[in-house]
Amino acid sequence: MSSDKPVAIVTGGGTGIGAACSKVLARDGFRVGINYIDIVEDSAKAVLAQIEDGFLLKADLTDADQIESMLAEIKEKAGRVDVLLNAAGISINKDINSMTLEDFDLQRAIVRGSWYLTKRILRLFMLRKNSGRIINISSVVGHSGNSGQIPYTMEKAALDAFTKSLCKELAGRNILVNSVAPGFIDTPMTQNLPEEVKKRILDSIPLGRLGDPEEIADVVSFLACRASYISGTVIHVNGGLYGG
Ligand code: NAP
Repeated sequence: MSSDKPVAIVTGGGTGIGAACSKVLARDGFRVGINYIDIVEDSAKAVLAQIEDGFLLKADLTDADQIESMLAEIKEKAGRVDVLLNAAGISINKDINSMTLEDFDLQRAIVRGSWYLTKRILRLFMLRKNSGRIINISSVVGHSGNSGQIPYTMEKAALDAFTKSLCKELAGRNILVNSVAPGFIDTPMTQNLPEEVKKRILDSIPLGRLGDPEEIADVVSFLACRASYISGTVIHVNGGLYGG
């Protein structure tokens, strides 16, 4: 069922930063397509229950066939896309000696999936309206580097390079492409870190605390709804940790 409402698709929209963004974009008047994989179905359902207008999209972004099925579902359920937020991510935390080729390939499969989804979803951006927003959630560590996260930092640096190149390809269609690079944010991804790592992180943040997912969502909301002359940029949101 399609409507006149603008549509935002949020990958990894069932937990953490993606969940906060799903809720804020719904508050801002979007119909929100919440992408999730099996294990977060309950979380994704809980997010859906809290927003005015949305729908669930089950797909593993490392699988191109599942992305194609999700696109068919978006076409059927919404018929258009105005904003794509690539928020899905994993972080495999091992040093270079422990990291395997399989770990590396899994980490890289996420950025490959974000690229493929973006490429294939473009036809659903409303051509006649000639506008749209693509927002990639990268990370401070793609710029600063981080011990024990080499493939993750490579993936996030690649995502920012994707943002900058895609901005140039889509500018003529008035589709704006930006990255938001969080610092350390209080989500399942950081909650699972060992206590000594959490303490080291906290000690390094000038504002002295982790960020809230809503503080990332506020910036995503600005890019999705109000920014009209920002494209190809990485906006750092990290409590003073890194200036970019
Ligand atoms: P999170 O709660 O773990 O969110 C990651 C989301 O991506 C989850 O919903 C996850 O599902 C989903 N996902 C993972 N692999 C997927 C796949 N193959 N297909 C579809 N969805 C998949 O952690 P988060 O902190 O909110 O992370 C959101 C984004 O912010 C990520 O890109 C992360 O790298 C980035 N980020 C986070 C921080 C931080 O400090 N938290 C800092 C910088 C950047 P599952 O829960 O089922 O795995």
